[in-house]
Amino acid sequence: MLLDLLLLKGSVAREPNDTGRFNMLAGTNRSVYRWMLDPAPRADYVIAVGSCAAYGGVPAAGSNPTDAVGLQFEGADSGGALGADFRSRLGLSVINVAPHPGWMMETILALTTNDLAATDLDSYGRPKFVANHLAHHGCSRNEFYEFKASAETMSERGCLMEHLGCKATQAVGDCNQRSWNGGGSCTKGGYACIACTSPGFEGAQNFLETAKLAGIPVGLPTDMPKAWFVALAALSKSATPRRVRLNATADHVVVPPGRATTKGKP
Ligand code: SF4
Repeated sequence: MLLDLLLLKGSVAREPNDTGRFNMLAGTNRSVYRWMLDPAPRADYVIAVGSCAAYGGVPAAGSNPTDAVGLQFEGADSGGALGADFRSRLGLSVINVAPHPGWMMETILALTTNDLAATDLDSYGRPKFVANHLAHHGCSRNEFYEFKASAETMSERGCLMEHLGCKATQAVGDCNQRSWNGGGSCTKGGYACIACTSPGFEGAQNFLETAKLAGIPVGLPTDMPKAWFVALAALSKSATPRRVRLNATADHVVVPPGRATTKGKP
């Protein structure tokens, strides 16, 4: 039997003893791990839905007692349940897509119209139409980010990067441009981005606190040298408008924007 599309949600447990029987497929008396090995080569395309199916994800955290892996990755290393060399019937590696409805539909549509080739995937198997964006792009807190005006506790309006663990400057995805289900994103909901589209995201010590070294966040924007970031952050903070600074640590707007005059001056 040939398949058009095979999708897996959730990681693949390989323990105990490489049988995978910690995670059985209902009604088959076979483990998900062993069962997947049969249909995968007979599918035109294979999609790992979400970071657990793609890279191991949450079940792979810590000591990983079930030996949870993704379909073609173990964290950031290629391999996984199907092996690094696996290719589906039409020659693609496993396509790794977080379960954002828009990303899923765009991926499936592109496959049905032959518009998704190997060159359209990044090195972690993610479609580039998702991976070429950062979750930071389009966040409603961008003005606070620009001035490094930071929230200090949950529910405040400021940027969540400096203190509250936001990793959206390092996490791929257009979540803040193409909202989940048309309306939401983590940062819109007041919660820091935990980089859930990245392999190994589950290894964070604390999702709600920014890891720092000598007071400087460890995870800085992907393509910015640390020295530049520190210098620009100091400059930005020194230029922060009073409105932005006060609103950053409030749960509602306490200082509205000044009214522009006809000459454009506040
Ligand atoms: S809260 Fe996160 S996504 Fe929003 S501006 Fe700050 S760093 Fe960017």
